[in-house]
This record gives sequence, C-alpha cells and structure tokens, in this order.
Amino acid sequence: MKTVKAPREVREIIDRLKRDGASVGLIPTMGALHEGHASLVRLARSRSGFVVASIFVNPKQFGPREDRGRYPRAFDGDCRLLESLGCDLLFHPADGDLYSHADRTRVAVEGLSDVLCGTSRSGHFHGVTLVVAKLFNIVRPDEAYFGQKDAQQAVIIQRMAADLDVPVRIVLGPTIREADGLAMSSRNVYLDDSSRASAPAIYRSLRAAKERVEAGDRDPVAVAAGVARMMREGGFEVEYASVVDGAALEAIERIEGIVLIACAGRIGGTRLIDNIALRVAGTKVEEILLMFPEWSRYA
Ligand code: AMP
Repeated sequence: MKTVKAPREVREIIDRLKRDGASVGLIPTMGALHEGHASLVRLARSRSGFVVASIFVNPKQFGPREDRGRYPRAFDGDCRLLESLGCDLLFHPADGDLYSHADRTRVAVEGLSDVLCGTSRSGHFHGVTLVVAKLFNIVRPDEAYFGQKDAQQAVIIQRMAADLDVPVRIVLGPTIREADGLAMSSRNVYLDDSSRASAPAIYRSLRAAKERVEAGDRDPVAVAAGVARMMREGGFEVEYASVVDGAALEAIERIEGIVLIACAGRIGGTRLIDNIALRVAGTKVEEILLMFPEWSRYA
C-alpha cells in the first residue's frame, strides 16, 4: 500500500489507473480505524478494482467546542490494518494540503444539514460536504463507501453527489456493532467503564422501536418518545430521538415507506449516535440501508 499526502500525486496515480480502465473505490475516514471502517474496506475490495482509503481529521466539521484536538489518532495501526485488508492507496493529507486561508467556497446541502444532528452541530455537515466534495474531485472514485452508522451524513452525501452531478456511485455498508449492540465508533474510547456498560441502551431503544413498528404501531411521535424514554432509563441525556422520512429527513404523520429512526445522546459526557432505517409496506417491516441510487444519473 502506498501512502500519499499531496492531492496532485493522488491525481497522477488515479489518471494512470483510469487510462488502464481500472475502477476506483474510495473510503473516506478520520482514522482510529475499527471493524466498522474495515467492513467498508472489505466491501470496496470486493467491488472496486483499486481501493483508496483517506484519513483526514477534517477541521471544518468540528465546532469550536468539539473534540478535534483530542480526536483519537492511531496512524501506524491504521496503516497496518489497511494494508492487511488489501487497500491499494492511503491518502493522508495534512490540513494545508486541502485548505488554505484564501478558501471562500462552501458546499451546503440545505435542509438535510439543519435537522437531527445538524441542530446541535451547526455547520458540521457543511464541513463534511466540503471535504467529501474535495475528495471526490481529487480521487474521482467510481464508487464511494459510507456507513449506515452515520445515516444523515450518508443521505446528505448522496444528495450532494446527485445535485452536483458527481459521477460516483455511493455504496453503504451496514452498521457494525460490538457483541452487546453498541455501534462501533472511534469515539467509544472516550467511554469510562460505567458509561461503556450503559451505552448499549441506545441500540436497545432502537430495537424496541423496530419491534413496536413490527407489532403494528405506526405513530412516529409515540415511537420516538419510546426511544427517548428507554435512552433516559439507560442513563443517557437525550439530545434527540426522531422518526423521520428516510430521504427528506422530515417529520412524518405516519410510519410507512422508508423511515429513519435516529437518536443522539450523551452518556458520561460522550456523545453517541445510532439509527435504524426501515422500509414499511403494509404489515411488512424490513431493515434497510439508506441508499438512493435513483437520485443519481450515474448509479
Ligand atoms: P469516521 O472515521 O467516523 O468519519 O467514519 C468513516 C466512515 O466509516 C463513515 O462512512 C462512517 O459512517 C463509517 N463507519 C463508522 N463507524 C461505523 C460502523 N460502526 N459501522 C459501519 N460503518 C461505520
């Protein structure tokens, strides 16, 4: 596996590959890699000819009071893991390789970025869409891989790629969980023993919500309230628990079609998020990945 810092060098490598007709897959990450990231690299390895992972702790997606300074970093271990998974190229730019003081351009996906996690993390998703747009332009992937774990991010990126005519197929991988159901996250290392023991309550509350829907409950407000209650009982300070349209991320009157049950909360000071997406048709309830290839001309 080759590690490259400079965008120009990445472009040159990709130019050569494209001339040879290879398909390129990209997995953007912030490093401190775990099995969730690894599953996306394996998915990419199985579908794309040349696999590029990026590690960049993007300053633009952290608020001034957020954890960029102490965000976990584990570069050497990350390289070994990526190498063992058959990743071909690691793009690892420094801040100055992607940003300069002269920058004036924003990439803002309106509406979708202001709800759910966007309510408390103002500007976060604009930082995500800016860096992902830059990565798409530098790497020019045929496929880009994202996790259902960050469902709102995945929907926003699919909208951005479609709206900007980026010729990329967005592929989602399922949320990878610990044995007790806690979604893997680089931030889980912040949890002390007691918070770690309580943290699976966030996923239990989502399973219970799914069971309610399977049992015929179609009331989004009641189902969301159930999630919030179970999170609180598990020791969480709830930021939000919502049942929304899975594509528009807007409130719905009734649970049917594609819906996202998403929540965020703090436990012992650490903010965790989780979600389940469902396709509900009559009495049939199916857990799905929030993929909308029909939005894109290039899917
Ligand atoms: P991050 O390094 O947290 O920015 O995540 C990089 C990519 O990995 C994003 O597309 C995430 O959605 C995805 N990801 C993170 N955690 C998981 C997980 N537990 N399961 C599946 N994908 C994940």
